[in-house]
Formats: sequence, C-alpha cells, structure tokens
Amino acid sequence: MFGFIKLCTNDRRIPKAFRMIRHCHFNAGRNIVAVFWDLDNKPPKSVSPFDAAIRLRKAAESFGDVRFKIAYANQRSFDYVPPKIKEHRRDRKKLDQLENKGVVKPVDPYICRVCGRKFYNNEKLINHFKQIHEREHVKRVSQIESARGSQRVKLVGKYSMKMEKYTNAARDILTPKVGYGLGDELKRAGYWVSTVSNKPQAADVALRNHVVDMMDKRQMDCLILVSDDSDFVEVLKEAKLRCLKTVVVGDCDEGALKRVSDASYSWQEVIMGKAKKEAVSVVGRWKDRDILKRLEWTYNYERERRLYGSFSEDDDSDVSNFVNREDDGNKMDGSRAWWKLESDSDAASA
Ligand SMILES: [Zn+2]
Repeated sequence: MFGFIKLCTNDRRIPKAFRMIRHCHFNAGRNIVAVFWDLDNKPPKSVSPFDAAIRLRKAAESFGDVRFKIAYANQRSFDYVPPKIKEHRRDRKKLDQLENKGVVKPVDPYICRVCGRKFYNNEKLINHFKQIHEREHVKRVSQIESARGSQRVKLVGKYSMKMEKYTNAARDILTPKVGYGLGDELKRAGYWVSTVSNKPQAADVALRNHVVDMMDKRQMDCLILVSDDSDFVEVLKEAKLRCLKTVVVGDCDEGALKRVSDASYSWQEVIMGKAKKEAVSVVGRWKDRDILKRLEWTYNYERERRLYGSFSEDDDSDVSNFVNREDDGNKMDGSRAWWKLESDSDAASA
C-alpha cells in the first residue's frame, strides 16, 4: 500500500530524504504540467512541426494544467532542412523559372489566400503577398506592440482574425527565413523556443538547468520530457525525489528514461492520440498516490511532534489514527524518526 513512500525512502541517496520532505510538493489539487522538448534529440519527423507541437500539447493537457511548453535546440537543428523539403524547394525554383520565361503556364491559377486574387505565375503571387500582406502584417504587429493596457487588448481582438489568416497563408507562400520553419512553427503553436550554441550538450545542459530551476521555484507538479537521451536520468530522479509526476515521450522502448518515469509513450503514440487516452488511468494513479503522500506527511508531522515536540498537544485526529493503524504492518522503528531509521539501514547495507 505504501509502495510510493517506500520508493522514496529506499532511495540510495537517502541522506537526501530529509531534504525530500522539505522539497516535496504538496499542492492539494494542483497539477501544473511543464513540457520540456529536447528538439535536438527528438525533432518532429512524421508530421509537420506545428502539427507535432499541437498533438504533444493535447496529450500533455490530459495530464493536467499545461502552463509551460518549452523547447530547446541548438542552431543546427533550427537551420536544418529535411531532404524532402529541400527537394521540393528545388523543384519549385525550376518551375518558377519556366513560368517566368513563359514556357509553362499552370492549369489552375495560384490564389492569394488573404485577398483571393489570382495569379498565373508563382513569383508574382509571392511578390504581391510580400508587398501587400506582409507589410500590413508588420504594421499591425508594431501597432499592437506599441499599445498598452486596454488599447492593446482592443487591438489584439480587432486584428486576431486577420493575423491568423495571414500567418496561415504565409506558411504556404513564403519560405521560412530559418531552416524549414521549425522554430517559428513551434512558437506559433505556443511553445517557448530557445536556441543554444552548437557546442555538444549545450541544449541538454540548458534544458536540465531550466528544469531544476523550475523545480526549485515549485512552478510545476508534473514534468513531461520529450527525449531519448539517457543524460536526463538524473534530472528525472531528482524530480521523483521531489515528488513530481513524470512522463517521458521517446522511442527507446527499454530506454533508461522510461524506467525512471511514472509513464512513458512513444512519439507515435502521442501523434496517434493514444497517450491522451491512456492519461486518464495515469492521472487516477497519481490521485491515489497524492492521498497516500498527504497521509504520510500528516503522519510524519504527528510522529516528529511526539518525539521531539510537546507531548501535551498530542491530538488523536482521524487521520493520524488511520495512519498509525496502517503503520502496524510497517517495519518502522518507533523509537526514531523514520528518516533517521532509513539512513541507518542504508549505511548498514552499503
Ligand atoms: Zn492578396
């Protein structure tokens, strides 16, 4: 019954057990989810970056309240253009040249998806789009950026439809400035995207530090990590030590990360929506675990108070009665605080 608690207290690094109590998150009912995406290790492959980002977000939302969506990659990953897209761009360029020379004429016209104008030359459409719609867009963005307060809210409301229409059209018409638009597409999907230097491990280090920083600030209750990189094992262990819920998205079936996380899914399972469906039972398990954690917490407090604090105040609340009864079957030495016992037994077995 106390499986989870044992898991924490039997940890090899038990001197940290006391620390764990301090750091343990007991935010009743709160389940803030943070998604950390190691893009260098797991770039979107089977679907477009935007699509992948949205599906990942949807899966994450079934685990709790997603407040943070963070992606890390080095410049090379953002500059990278998949071979398929490179080929497509080459073909398009050749076709554009033929159209310009009047050698070929498209059967169907190119239609501007913002204003509906028709063109029989792709480059003319692009020029039209840049000169008219891109300029309008830049103007709107700067207007919003310079506005404050209610004026800003008003402008965002006024322009939101137009801006969305523009962004969707621009994605198909304009060539992304960097790579195949990975960074921009993830930003569009609401992710905070960070580019680090091309030094090996730079993204890993930055991502790990960010996770630890957020744990220190208690900004999340559930960590969803998208990576197959076993370098993150320690940070996942640390998250567990602090009683965070952990989910890993990766493709190494027997990967080191999956072994230390509460739940794990392949990238394909996220894309197909399987992770979202299964999340219900995982969240159910977490709820049970939270109840146990709270009982253990109350119990520790009561016991330590009895051991070190004032005896006269000892109240027999229902909760402490219940936990004490449960404890009868536990191999706990009543003469010492539980964490002390654990560190002793750990030293003995080492
Ligand atoms: Zn137009």
